[in-house]
Amino acid sequence: MRSRSSGSSRSYGDSLQPTEQGRRSVVPANYIRAVTSAVPLPDPQLRAVPVAGLASGGLVDRHGRVATDLRVSLTDRCNLRCTYCMPEEGLAWLPKVEVLTDDEVARLVRIGVEQLGIREVRFTGGEPLLRPGLVGIVAAATGLAPRPEVSLTTNGVGLTRVAPALAAAGLDRINVSLDTLDPGRFQQLTHRNRLDDVLAGLRAAADAGLTPVKVNAVLMRGLNEADAVPLLEFCLEHGYQLRFIEQMPLDANHAWTRQNMIIAEEILERLTAAHTLTPDTEERGSAPAERWLVDGGPATVGVIASVTRAFCGACDRTRLTADGQVRNCLFAREESDLRTPMREGATDEELADRWRIATLSKLPGHGIDDPSFLQPARPMSAIGG
Ligand code: SAM
Repeated sequence: MRSRSSGSSRSYGDSLQPTEQGRRSVVPANYIRAVTSAVPLPDPQLRAVPVAGLASGGLVDRHGRVATDLRVSLTDRCNLRCTYCMPEEGLAWLPKVEVLTDDEVARLVRIGVEQLGIREVRFTGGEPLLRPGLVGIVAAATGLAPRPEVSLTTNGVGLTRVAPALAAAGLDRINVSLDTLDPGRFQQLTHRNRLDDVLAGLRAAADAGLTPVKVNAVLMRGLNEADAVPLLEFCLEHGYQLRFIEQMPLDANHAWTRQNMIIAEEILERLTAAHTLTPDTEERGSAPAERWLVDGGPATVGVIASVTRAFCGACDRTRLTADGQVRNCLFAREESDLRTPMREGATDEELADRWRIATLSKLPGHGIDDPSFLQPARPMSAIGG
């Protein structure tokens, strides 16, 4: 069993995993790690052989997709307890020794950008504002050539304090998660009384020029469906870009069910009861959100229908967890360890090769609708959303 830090009674790695079908399996996190860290580096002889996507070039998978968008989780810790993400009592946080240092994060991001064709870097968590070295990590990423687009996803708590420094470090954009404007429901949803901090954080981000400020919202049945229209009107009033995200089976409690989630269609029905929505004809590319012009535009609202209108065919993402594991999909059940070889002295080229190999096996789709679907052992907070 994985080691645990003190002060917490929950661990995601060794939890039982109920599925939609009610089957259960036990997948200890150290099993995943043992399997994937056993993947050998390619024979140096082979590096001379031109193998597409290996030993040179970018992060290409067997289905021809190229990953250019890197999500980096800077911590698995969070100061909120959103019910669809983390249990109220928290989780067994990663031991400090397992978390990449600031220099290690900066090195892997540099390898991604310089050797693997990464063009966008998004820092996330857990809550990335809890990472003491965040500003320096952002500055290291924005100092790279070719210069990637660098953004951050945060719950906004503490943003007033750090937004100007993030802007000065070159951060391009920010996404703030906000699921309700009602203080009581905010407390119920997050188990914390921090709504005013989040609202102040949004203002601070806009004032610091971290625009367009995007707001991410998840709707949950019986909790905050009624917030759909007020959230839209709040964002229209303040010039924030709102995107609703369908709830995904990535909660630590494994309470998600397809039957109970609020799907994109229902979100759109609620919005169209109060506003006219017309499809935004701008090219979507690999963007996860489908967008609609609100009342003729130019303001838009987006819906990320990860479950009901999956966009895996256009996925250009690769993920790095706070403990240095590459995940080729949010829902991947296998990971590839970069931290251990890095700490054992692997060169940049060797780490890049491992990342390429990890990408090859990316599945064609997340398979949520497949009867054999199993939720990954890590919850969203430990993957990096
Ligand atoms: N703490 C930061 C935040 O709140 O934005 C960054 C991490 S959080 C995991 C990133 C995003 O994932 C948030 O917008 C959150 O609402 C979303 N999220 C978390 N669990 C989710 C789930 N089960 N389904 C859909 N979105 C989820």
